Amino acid sequence: LAKKQERDLMFYDPRALNETDHSIELWQEMQKALDADHFYLVFQPLFDLKDNALISAEVLIRWEHPEKGFISPAQFIPLAEQSGLISRLDAWVLEAAAKQIRNWLDRQLTPPRIAVNLSGISFLRPDFIETLTTIFGKYDVSLDHIELELTEGVLIDDLDRISNQLNSIRATGVSISIDDFGTGYSSLSRIKNLAIDNIKIDRSFIDDLDTCQQDLKIVEAIILMAHGLNLSVIAEGVETQEQLSILRQQGCDTVQGFFLSRPLKAEPFEELLEQDLVI
Ligand code: C2E
Ligand code: CA
Ligand code: CA
Ligand code: CA
Repeated sequence: LAKKQERDLMFYDPRALNETDHSIELWQEMQKALDADHFYLVFQPLFDLKDNALISAEVLIRWEHPEKGFISPAQFIPLAEQSGLISRLDAWVLEAAAKQIRNWLDRQLTPPRIAVNLSGISFLRPDFIETLTTIFGKYDVSLDHIELELTEGVLIDDLDRISNQLNSIRATGVSISIDDFGTGYSSLSRIKNLAIDNIKIDRSFIDDLDTCQQDLKIVEAIILMAHGLNLSVIAEGVETQEQLSILRQQGCDTVQGFFLSRPLKAEPFEELLEQDLVI
């Protein structure tokens, strides 16, 4: 697998990016960091509003550079996407997630479902399902332990191709969430026939939910329509009690955000699991 991805990388020349020196440097640093394992995962819990219990966790990648310190994924993920490194990075995250789930299973800690962000580039690769099954097979972790988060932007590609790929992925037991919903070009009518389980309403609609009448109406409409299509709704970026109360009242299914919990390293996250925390 690693060989294959290495081969793919040879097709990418960072100079062809026509980027600033800074980007090229960051690109080289990213490759080194992958080899040196300078990346790690944090886990942000999601809570089910029916029973108020922790039901899943989103994994987010973190990069601690030995000299530059913490580098935000908002900075290096787009660069990885432009330079072709993203498939290697996505595979690294999937493997780290599989390894962690295996560790929890071995220690009799029941892991919740783990949601992994996947770039559109990795998702559309013809060998993606093989990569996915190989990685999880290696740790003997069944694929129904995970969810994949795809941004809405992925859906603007050829709909037949996307639909086929979603069906194949769903057949492995993985569930699918559409991330950052409401920010892109897709609409619920466009996704109505796709094999999708959840939509995640983008944080930008949640931010002013308590003060902005328009956002309130938009979120209400998204929840109603999504439920009409049998999709479950997740609200991300919940930062206040007020936002949480509104979402609860509107019938939102699942919430995530700093008000509930920040993303946590594996150890504090395990402590939450052991506490049977409810919100
Ligand atoms: P995203 O998928 O929308 O991830 C949610 C982001 O919102 C995370 O930022 C998370 O820390 C932040 N967040 C969560 N709750 C709150 C809140 O209540 N308020 C605010 N202000 N922010 C909140 P992060 O970790 O910096 O990630 C940024 C983006 O980078 C992600 O957006 C995702 O698109 C990408 N990313 C992160 N990890 C991965 C990864 O492992 N693989 C891929 N392909 N992309 C990733
Ligand atoms: Ca996400
Ligand atoms: Ca998001
Ligand atoms: Ca976002």
